[in-house]
Amino acid sequence: MNRPHYRSQDAGQYRKLYSDPRWCGPHGLRKRVLLRDGYVCQWAGCGRSLIGKGNAPNAPVVHHVEDHKGDLELFFDEENCMSTCKECHDRDAQRMTHRGYISGHDVDGRPIDPGHPWNR
Ligand SMILES: [Zn+2]
Repeated sequence: MNRPHYRSQDAGQYRKLYSDPRWCGPHGLRKRVLLRDGYVCQWAGCGRSLIGKGNAPNAPVVHHVEDHKGDLELFFDEENCMSTCKECHDRDAQRMTHRGYISGHDVDGRPIDPGHPWNR
């Protein structure tokens, strides 16, 4: 269960992006994505209305489809963002957290586990 060290450092560096007005401001990307998606969860098979507040399962979360890892272009790329409910997002985050260090990587960094989403 060892996380590579660079991960936690990255997280500290890009966490502040989420408080950037270009992201969370009244005209920020987060709002634009939610409006674009009509405040509906875009996760396959979900489609619930994102009307929840705070940590409610139906609270809106704007998800980066490709992990931005602090990359500003990916972070602020509207095409890379999708609206999801908190429940779908947390389910995915769980999966991502488990990615890699449970199923393992080969030398190229690909998951060994054939059932891993990357290998589907
Ligand atoms: Zn959902």
